[in-house]
Amino acid sequence: MASIEMRNIVKKYGDGFPAVNDVSLDIADGEFMILVGPSGCGKSTLLRMIVGLEDITTGDMIIGGTRVNDKAPRDRNLSMVFQNYALYPHLSVYENIAFPLRLQNVPDDEVRRRVTEAADVLELHEHLERKPANLSGGQRQRVAMGRAIVRSADAFLFDEPLSNLDAKLRGQMRTEIARLQRRLGITTVYVTHDQTEAMTLGDRVCVLRKGLIQQVASPRELYEQP
Ligand code: ADP
Ligand code: ADP
Repeated sequence: MASIEMRNIVKKYGDGFPAVNDVSLDIADGEFMILVGPSGCGKSTLLRMIVGLEDITTGDMIIGGTRVNDKAPRDRNLSMVFQNYALYPHLSVYENIAFPLRLQNVPDDEVRRRVTEAADVLELHEHLERKPANLSGGQRQRVAMGRAIVRSADAFLFDEPLSNLDAKLRGQMRTEIARLQRRLGITTVYVTHDQTEAMTLGDRVCVLRKGLIQQVASPRELYEQP
């Protein structure tokens, strides 16, 4: 687990208006932070800078007390779940979940133990030999979650993980994510457009607009204002 501190983060793509414009935000160890705001306000850019998929133009990104600006994604020990899940089509569910452990050369019996545990939590044990193409949307989403929780990451990052699901599955997965977060207590940054997700999952909600923080508040303060 680790806190995430952003100090005056700026991101410019080319010489246009900054996509992220002087953002400072402290996310506590174990906190569930929601990012909301209109399309193009900088949510994905911010997530990608936390994981290291995007360079920071100026400012400091500090994770677990260490400045990580120059650290490669694989050296940051974070797990990201993408909107499109980004599963490997040629690999089984088992190997998709195991993937981060394979990268770390974890021994086979340890891989088996941890994949089985993740599959149990996510009720995927009956599907471990299948390929992603033969799964429902909700099952694919669970596999992406499994890959995120299979190793002990310092933080989870979610980019609209439920937006491709129908309303019923979205409800189920929302409950599941809430349960997982309570059980694992891992620092989480979660981008969504969905107010119900923000309400049920978030400890705090950060509202972005044109690359700036407009407000940081508890879901209650934000959505139940008179
Ligand atoms: P969303 O609104 O769902 O975040 P976007 O359309 O903003 O999706 O972005 C989708 C992808 O396209 C992202 O990977 C982003 O980096 C890229 N992208 C967005 N805007 C531009 C742009 N002006 N030039 C190049 N790539 C862009
Ligand atoms: P959001 O996730 O809130 O929709 P993004 O972070 O995707 O917002 O985008 C923020 C701004 O940065 C938008 O104006 C978008 O067009 C621009 N942008 C995002 N990715 C790129 C990119 N790779 N190249 C150029 N501009 C980009």
